Amino acid sequence: MTIAENVALVKKNIAAAAARAGRDPSGIMLVAATKQNDADRVRQAIAAGVDACGENRVQEMLEKAALGAYEGAPLHFIGHLQRNKVKNVVGLVSLIHSVDTIELLRQIDRVAAEKGLVQDVLLEINIGAEASKSGFAPEELPSALAAAAQLESVRVRGLMAIPPFCASGEENRRYFVRMQQLFVDNCDKKYDNVRMDFMSMGMSADYETAVECGAHIVRVGTAVFGPRTYPEKH
Ligand SMILES: *Cc1c(COP(=O)(O)O)cnc(C)c1O
Repeated sequence: MTIAENVALVKKNIAAAAARAGRDPSGIMLVAATKQNDADRVRQAIAAGVDACGENRVQEMLEKAALGAYEGAPLHFIGHLQRNKVKNVVGLVSLIHSVDTIELLRQIDRVAAEKGLVQDVLLEINIGAEASKSGFAPEELPSALAAAAQLESVRVRGLMAIPPFCASGEENRRYFVRMQQLFVDNCDKKYDNVRMDFMSMGMSADYETAVECGAHIVRVGTAVFGPRTYPEKH
């Protein structure tokens, strides 16, 4: 299958999952997880109509950006972000999905203020309480939102989660349901600089379940590009 055929299939599956949940599919964003795919393949995904590209590694993103790989689509950062790399990411991407500490939030705010812009971010939730994963524990979310309310150059737009690795989407339904509950609970509270618009959850193995459970953004790599050739580096 070509990248264009894959994108068409993923979009069809998103629309079907949205219909099962009584949701409008036009409110669901398909972010192509572009790691390890070169500029030419990224361009094919954009031409096929993905809503945005999401990169994991700063260096790889800068190299592809220099080649103009992302022209025609918004760029997101979805990987673990080190504080010393924040300056390379703020302003280049329209959304950072993976803010996992208050220190990182403050660093993004400082850099965004220096650049004279407001950076949109999501707060990453460690919904499976996995020791190997970063992210806020669900019970830490209110204090993270209260911290964000003090920062004028970041705007929290919602939540992101990477549930435990699973073979099928069904296994992760309980985590997506928990995310949906957390999102709804925190939507009602009013904080400055916080607008709970998006939940970013669902990858190749489980995006349809995530959409059934309320995801507004899915991050899909393998189902768009095929299997990655090289082992993942972090
Ligand atoms: C790689 C990656 C994805 C996509 O993974 P696939 O299983 O290939 O769809 C989604 N989110 C993040 C943060 C990733 O690193």
